[in-house]
Amino acid sequence: MTKYVYSFGDGAAEGKVDMKNLLGGKGANLAEMCSLGLPVPPGFTITTEVCVNYYAGGKKLPAGVEAEVKKALAAIEKIAGAKFGEVKNPLLVSVRSGARASMPGMMDTVLNLGLNDATVEALAAKTGNPRFAYDSYRRFIQMYSDVVLGIDHYNFEELLESKKSDRGVELDTELTADDLKALVGEYKEKVKQELKKPFPQDVQEQLWGAIMAVFDSWMNARAITYRKLHDIPESWGTAVNVQSMVFGNMGDDCATGVAFTRNPSTGEKAFYGEFLVNAQGEDVVAGIRTPQPLTIKGKEIGGELPSMEEVMPDVYGELVKIYQKLEAHYRDMQDIEFTVQNRKLWMLQTRSGKRTAAASIKIAVDMVAEKLIKREQAIERVDPAALDQLLHPTLDPNAPKTLITRGLPASPGAAAGIVVFSAEEAERRAKEKVILVRVETSPEDIHGMHAAQGILTARGGMTSHAAVVARGMGKPCVSGAGELKIDYAAKIFKAGNKTVKEGDFVTINGGSGEVFLGEVPTVQPQLSGDFATLMGWADEMRTLKVRANAETPLDAKAARRFGAEGIGLCRTEHMFFDTDRIIAMREMIVSETVEKRKEALAKLLPMQRKDFTELFTIMAGLPVTIRLLDPPLHEFLPHSDAEIKEVAKAAGVTSEYVRSRAHALHESNPMLGHRGCRLGITYPEIYEMQARAVFEAASSVAKESKDKVIPEIMIPLVMNSKELEILKRLVDDTAAAVARETGVKIEYLVGTMIELPRAALRAADIARHAEFFSFGTNDLTQTTLGLSRDDAASFIEAYKQKGVLDADPFVTIDQDGVGELIQIAAERGRKARSDIKLGICGEHGGDPASVAFCQKAGLNYVSCSPYRVPIARLAAAQAAIKAKFSKAAAA
Ligand code: ADP
Ligand code: MG
Ligand code: MG
Repeated sequence: MTKYVYSFGDGAAEGKVDMKNLLGGKGANLAEMCSLGLPVPPGFTITTEVCVNYYAGGKKLPAGVEAEVKKALAAIEKIAGAKFGEVKNPLLVSVRSGARASMPGMMDTVLNLGLNDATVEALAAKTGNPRFAYDSYRRFIQMYSDVVLGIDHYNFEELLESKKSDRGVELDTELTADDLKALVGEYKEKVKQELKKPFPQDVQEQLWGAIMAVFDSWMNARAITYRKLHDIPESWGTAVNVQSMVFGNMGDDCATGVAFTRNPSTGEKAFYGEFLVNAQGEDVVAGIRTPQPLTIKGKEIGGELPSMEEVMPDVYGELVKIYQKLEAHYRDMQDIEFTVQNRKLWMLQTRSGKRTAAASIKIAVDMVAEKLIKREQAIERVDPAALDQLLHPTLDPNAPKTLITRGLPASPGAAAGIVVFSAEEAERRAKEKVILVRVETSPEDIHGMHAAQGILTARGGMTSHAAVVARGMGKPCVSGAGELKIDYAAKIFKAGNKTVKEGDFVTINGGSGEVFLGEVPTVQPQLSGDFATLMGWADEMRTLKVRANAETPLDAKAARRFGAEGIGLCRTEHMFFDTDRIIAMREMIVSETVEKRKEALAKLLPMQRKDFTELFTIMAGLPVTIRLLDPPLHEFLPHSDAEIKEVAKAAGVTSEYVRSRAHALHESNPMLGHRGCRLGITYPEIYEMQARAVFEAASSVAKESKDKVIPEIMIPLVMNSKELEILKRLVDDTAAAVARETGVKIEYLVGTMIELPRAALRAADIARHAEFFSFGTNDLTQTTLGLSRDDAASFIEAYKQKGVLDADPFVTIDQDGVGELIQIAAERGRKARSDIKLGICGEHGGDPASVAFCQKAGLNYVSCSPYRVPIARLAAAQAAIKAKFSKAAAA
């Protein structure tokens, strides 16, 4: 029989940490903490399998669950020494969601379950603390009504606010037992009004209502959005944890808090977190009161309030011991939740903490030094895609700035944009670049946070929703800027004497917490320190080489700075769009005779030579792959009358003539038209000029430089071997001619792009003339799927949503289709020429999953845009480690 329920408590557990798929992250870690002997309130986990069955069976629980729950509940009662629903000594429980992957705040939790009009009195009598009992009851009614009965929490908060203003107090904690008792009455009245029936008094009804509500919350809109953003499959389902309550709201020797074992923003090895005295559950995160720092050191960023280290030194000391034990056990930074009940510490959750890219690198490098993990693990711990956060600019320290206000440095990086005040507006105006400004954010805002460049909130600490989610998304965030007075209705915010309207530019610095007026300029990132250390390890481990796609000196310099080992794709046509060059280019295109074309090409030759000289100088010692002219000529055609006149003048012909030539060159399907090597076959003088420019530049740089110049000439869009045979001869002849003229012999390669299915299939023939293949995966994807990249946007989303495609094939390689062609071509190419060099140069070269595929396919290198080079280096190291382990496992 399937086991649906796993118990934990009193130093033992049926579950284990490696049962996350079945128990969810929270359940598996609660079990693990129990087994480690940490103080965890007893409870049980209903498995994710039950959730899956629940949905498969039309929202019905599988048979047997109820009986197992009953048994497990009895086990809690025994350990806790209290009975669920009993009027003398009632047991209260929490009902908590918990999927395989952490989805903070996306699903529902109910606390203090088991309270009703009778048990609340018993709780008051037993603890001698009626204030606490009624505080718990009003919290329970609100949460249960919100989560299970569908009455928005707003209704209750309104009643709470008016009670506080009636009493002339500011904080919840200032309300007396009688106030709270009266409030409970009002809450129940509200429920009756809304539902036309009373708040449920039967604790079994409460329990099952909450369990079903947690399963239902797996399919709520927030959870669905979150899963989509984080690629979490719907089929996983959530587990439900039912756990004996401990109380942080019994008085001033009670508290609740959250902590990170290291700083999640910077990675600094310092215990870090926030807590609230006399509070419960999510009070810390919800921004109800300003939380206090855990440590004395934390006061530097957390403000003036006394720390836990000062107010509860004993409990704090115990917490420190526990976090150290957890970190040593999990060998990773942990995000923990705890509650203190009458000076007794209880652990309620631990998980691997979300962190910024900078923190993930520092923590990984530090943990290697601390001998907690090996270098391979350090490499595997860092998400290559997240490096993106570090490779982007920060605020220019020397730029003039007008400070508006300061908040907490919740998620690093600088961002500028126009102010918007709602998630909807953020989405609508995302193209303009927006900063989402909110009093505080909630899970309903995530789509807007996703659309925004950065997030600014008036309330909430470093562990607030805004801070946690922004760090996860890698977006700059300033939280808790307490001086902000936001007026949603008027769409303005004020800070001191400054007023900012919706649509005004602001800049935030998530690393310092500062908020500036206007758009502040930025500077390039520093790539030293831990980043360099980790990348150094990655370079030692990887077997794939990483090159960059670059044609300008600026890009080439960036490529070297980011560690590229050469240029994998220099698109020569990008060099023709400069104003002074485009005229000569157009003159060449409209020419009808070889002589006229050669005349125009002669004007272009020195310009191309200069381009290549610069590139070879910057890239000295490293290979530079130069692709000869590829795009359809029509891309260069003159359009306006003024442009036509200019070309006519340069070529010494009439405007009429130019216009008629432009018309004649028009193509109805240019991407499949007169382009690529077809240009070289029909107008060999074009490729000859380009090859000459390459070799003349190479010989002049070779004379000056002690480093080798390594040109690799690449012929695009080849479909059969004859094309390549003809064009390779042209390149070889040109190289020989230049060598004779200059007296310098340059070593070079001639190869081709594989970007047509036919070329992939005929790779053996083609390899006879090609010293390298570079898979042009952008075009290969277009030609294999028969899909235009520029036109796919209109339906790709629908294809993803309907499950026709898992991912956009222009972002990550279609491994089954395009991938198979690559594998076939690689295999056949190698067979024909054993030392053939293989690489890819599409956008995919910087996509971690595609890099892993290239490793499997046995390619020699990937080439991607300069900013993605570090991502590719790390992804290549991860792929190499995986390959090593799977080889070892197979042996
Ligand atoms: P989430 O997955 O959104 O973090 P949790 O299930 O962790 O939700 O519950 C949120 C908070 O509720 C916890 O951090 C803790 O403070 C409080 N909580 C949950 N269960 C208990 C319990 N048994 N006793 C006391 N507090 C609890
Ligand atoms: Mg939470
Ligand atoms: Mg939690």
